[in-house]
This record gives sequence, C-alpha cells and structure tokens, in this order.
Amino acid sequence: MLITGASRGIGAAVARHFAAQGWALQLLARDGSALEAMASSLQQQGTVVHVAMVDLSRADGIQAGVETLLTAGGSPGVLINNAGAGYTAPLATMPLEDWQWLVQLNMTSVLQVTQAVLPGMRAAGGGLIINISSHAADQAFPNWGAYGMTKAALGAFSRSLAVEEAAQGIRVTTVSLGAVNTPLWDTATVHADLDRHAMLDPTDVADAILHLAEQPSRQRIENLTLLPAAGAL
Ligand code: NAP
Repeated sequence: MLITGASRGIGAAVARHFAAQGWALQLLARDGSALEAMASSLQQQGTVVHVAMVDLSRADGIQAGVETLLTAGGSPGVLINNAGAGYTAPLATMPLEDWQWLVQLNMTSVLQVTQAVLPGMRAAGGGLIINISSHAADQAFPNWGAYGMTKAALGAFSRSLAVEEAAQGIRVTTVSLGAVNTPLWDTATVHADLDRHAMLDPTDVADAILHLAEQPSRQRIENLTLLPAAGAL
C-alpha cells in the first residue's frame, strides 16, 4: 500500500498498523530521515518498505517521485492520499500565495498522485483509493475556510473518481475526520487552542482505515466519518 504523508501523525500510525498486519509499504513525504527511521524499524520486523522524499506542494517532481516508489515496490493495491496541511486565517485577508500553496498540497497533489497510480491499478484489475478529508469540509469553523474548501473539494473528487473508475474495479472512499491529536496542531500554519486530550488518537484512524482496506471488493464505502466522542472541539 502507498501512503502519502507517512512521516508522522495519521500517516505514520496507518503505516505501522498496516505493517503489523503484514502489508508491504510505499511511504512518501518530505522528511527523508523520519521516513528512513520508520522504514528501518519496520524492516527489522520483516516489513517490506520503500520510501520516497517528495514535496507535494510543488507540482513538478510528484510524478517522478511516485514513479520511483512504483518501480521499487510495484503497483499498490491500496493508495491512501493522506498528506496535507492544516491552515487557519480569515478568508478576507489570507495571502494569495497561501491559498495557492494549500490548493496545490491538499487538492492538486491528490490528483497528481492518483494519476500516477491509476494505470498500475487498472492493469491489476482494481484497487482501493482512500482520500483523507475533514469534518471542516461540511461544517464551517471561523478561519478554517480555505482548509475546509480544499477538503470539501476532495469529497467531490472522490465521488467523481469512484464513478469514473468503477468499471476498472477501483473503489474510492473518503474518510472525514474530526480533530485527531497529531503534530498538525503544532505546525506554524495552524493557530488553534483545542483540548488535545479530547481528540481522536491517530491509532483510532489507523484502525478505521485498516477496516476499510479489509472489506471485500464487491463493497464500496463512500464516506466514513470519524469524530471524537465529544464532537467538534
Ligand atoms: P501532520 O501530523 O502534520 O502530518 C502531515 C503529513 O503530511 C506528514 O507526514 C508530512 O510529512 C506530510 N506533508 C505535509 N506537507 C507535505 C508536503 N509539502 N509534501 C509531502 N508531504 C507533506 O498531520 P495529520 O494530522 O497526520 O494529517 C494527515 C491528514 O489528515 C491531512 O490531510 C489532514 O488535513 C487530515 N486531517 C487531520 C486532522 C487532525 O485533526 N489532525 C483532522 C482532519 C483531517 P513531511 O512534513 O515529512 O513532508
């Protein structure tokens, strides 16, 4: 399985969870040392792991980066488009370059990675693509407008891709998440003061995603929403 944004947070938890179930991994992110550290610890437990350092906020280089993973590890049966950034700022004043960066990273790169993976999935007769979205796609939170827009677009992208690729045996699922306690909340582009202890744990998300990947291929779950029991924080 190929997972973007696997160097920390949800992506790292998903990678460890799938590895524990015997899956081979293709991991992509910018932080090469974090990826290498994860790969070497998982390889010691017998997992086949390939990694690629790719900056998804730059359109050039994504196709080639994904190709190196496909060449090394073959076509994945499951693709998880997880990489993304949180971003808070008022729509009225946010800089255009921030908007364009966020759109490239959270939306356009998903198209690019998917396009790189689809030919192999089609040739294999099918596969599963899981796109990681957010509760902010459906519910408005002040200062989260640009982020929510990118995640709402992912839902529309997933639904369209699902109908376009159904005849190829390729299933597409959107996973919509409430707040998850990851390093995203410590990044420079996020200014929010939520109760970290009330958030979901990344292992909760990993459990849900593994469940999706284990479903029979005759079944497609269109959207799975996972929220903290306390609701929107
Ligand atoms: P995180 O802890 O900040 O991790 C983000 C991952 O994405 C990292 O592996 C990071 O790796 C990668 N990434 C970021 N910028 C990248 C770039 N330019 N190129 C390549 N990879 C990049 O965030 P997270 O909470 O795990 O979030 C994962 C996904 O879940 C995101 O799409 C996020 O929007 C979504 N989500 C999160 C929450 C939440 O509350 N945490 C809620 C709803 C949805 P590098 O820095 O090494 O590149």
